[in-house]
Amino acid sequence: MKLLLQAISHCSDGMGVNRDAFVRLLHSAGESVQAFVYPPHCLLCRTPLDESNGLCPGCWETLDMIKGPRCGRCGCPGLSDPCTNCADKDFVFSRMSALTPFSRSVQRMVHMLKYQGLTAAGQTLGRALGRMLERESLAEARPVVVPVPLHGSRLRERGYNQSVLIARSLARVLDLPVEDRALKRVRATETQTNLDSAQRGANMEGAFLVRRKDLVRGRPVLLVDDVVTTGATANACAAALLEAGASEVDVAAVACPYFDAEKPDARTAVPDSALFI
Ligand SMILES: [Zn+2]
Ligand SMILES: [Zn+2]
Repeated sequence: MKLLLQAISHCSDGMGVNRDAFVRLLHSAGESVQAFVYPPHCLLCRTPLDESNGLCPGCWETLDMIKGPRCGRCGCPGLSDPCTNCADKDFVFSRMSALTPFSRSVQRMVHMLKYQGLTAAGQTLGRALGRMLERESLAEARPVVVPVPLHGSRLRERGYNQSVLIARSLARVLDLPVEDRALKRVRATETQTNLDSAQRGANMEGAFLVRRKDLVRGRPVLLVDDVVTTGATANACAAALLEAGASEVDVAAVACPYFDAEKPDARTAVPDSALFI
């Protein structure tokens, strides 16, 4: 599977408009074979499942999906105006939406996805994110979906880009085009863990460029990432996309570590049956 995804990632531009259809075909064929050889189990607790929803109902609950009103700019739950999470942020994207806070279950799934080669976690999270955007009418402008790219060295090491997997699953739910060749990470950035917000912004400067302006010019873009922390990476990508002529950039992420302590009542852990797909 890893080799297959690697081959897809390196497909030449020459495949043109049929590339997405080809990728979808390979994915559905792969999923059918996989379901036959490995009957579906919950990714987190290994409970057998009747159909491949990725997680059992109990584990969906532990993802702690964000519900209810959110800030129109950063997606932070709650109704404070101005939003205390983003009032001092200099975002160039229009709106950010996340599926869940960075709960322990999501951390485990993102870890499986990024470091254990469990690509099914990306598909499950991408589908759930797509359902959320659909339910909340957050992709009505019919944007082109652009995943946050990995640097070439990281892509070779991992064999796939987890954001591409999330983006493709999300796009299938919403029936949107994916353009994973539009944006390129031209500079390998140092780890951001120990940097504050301003340092992260500086660290990301010039890290991305749009190598296919024709794919985004005049179009709304939905930028997809696995986890958004300060928003510095998403902001740098959005700046490059807007400079290349994108009409607007929204951001969708699986997880964002909101300030839980400040808004303990803003989220509920009630599972949403619409996400069971
Ligand atoms: Zn489970
Ligand atoms: Zn906000």
